[in-house]
Amino acid sequence: MGRVYLVGAGPGDPELLTLRAVRLLQQAQVVVYDHLVSSAVLEFVSPNAQRIYAGKRRNEHTLRQEEINTLLISLANQGKQVVRLKGGDPFIFGRGGEELQALAAQGIDFEVVPGVTAASGVASYAGIPLTHRDYAQSCIFVTGHLKNGTADLDWPSLVRLNQTVVIYMGLGGLPEICRQMMAHGAAANLPIAVVQDGSIASQKVVTGTLIDMPERVVRAGLKSPCLTIIGNVVKLHDELAWFKPPVALTRV
Ligand code: SAH
Repeated sequence: MGRVYLVGAGPGDPELLTLRAVRLLQQAQVVVYDHLVSSAVLEFVSPNAQRIYAGKRRNEHTLRQEEINTLLISLANQGKQVVRLKGGDPFIFGRGGEELQALAAQGIDFEVVPGVTAASGVASYAGIPLTHRDYAQSCIFVTGHLKNGTADLDWPSLVRLNQTVVIYMGLGGLPEICRQMMAHGAAANLPIAVVQDGSIASQKVVTGTLIDMPERVVRAGLKSPCLTIIGNVVKLHDELAWFKPPVALTRV
């Protein structure tokens, strides 16, 4: 009987893989991975394993979701030990749940291995605690992916005081997000950070405020994947940034 292991690869630094993820990558017969999985993580895949790139860059879905589901089902039905490797944690904005539903519907065995999600991994490497007694007692994760040019978010819940907002997939929608936050009562000088390539050598951290951030991000030339962190905890970055990648931190 084949089996599919849905494994979280973390944000990029391979040292953030769990022991269980490393063991499974070394035992797998097939590894089906997304574009967010770093090349350093892929070095842990057994040289004997077949590797299948499933894509999933925005607007460039190499395999469509149904094709990925069909592929996983057929590999498992061939009796293969399959690792489905996803960036970060597979259950956070990773469609991991949908893939497992497709497997469950076919009676295929599966297991889930959690990973360090971008919110915690990237914030850690940017020196931004997501909660802090002086600044934030709660933290909310949302997707900033735009549909028809607008982010369909519950804005009043995002502008609560003493809360950190972490936005996945929000780079393209950043101007709209900043505008909506201010329109719903957030201060124009609320601190915000955008972190590109968190935890790997090309990491860049750009900080600013709701009013000036869209322009700073353009000037810095940031590219996907980027994680956005909004809230007063961002003020701690100057004091707590510890990760010094070979590429200098961008300050604009
Ligand atoms: N399942 C993943 C998230 C998938 S959505 C997780 O748990 O992390 C993809 C989004 O994650 C990207 O658009 C970006 O917002 C964020 N992301 C993932 N890895 C990142 C990294 N190393 N640096 C910055 N953002 C990252």
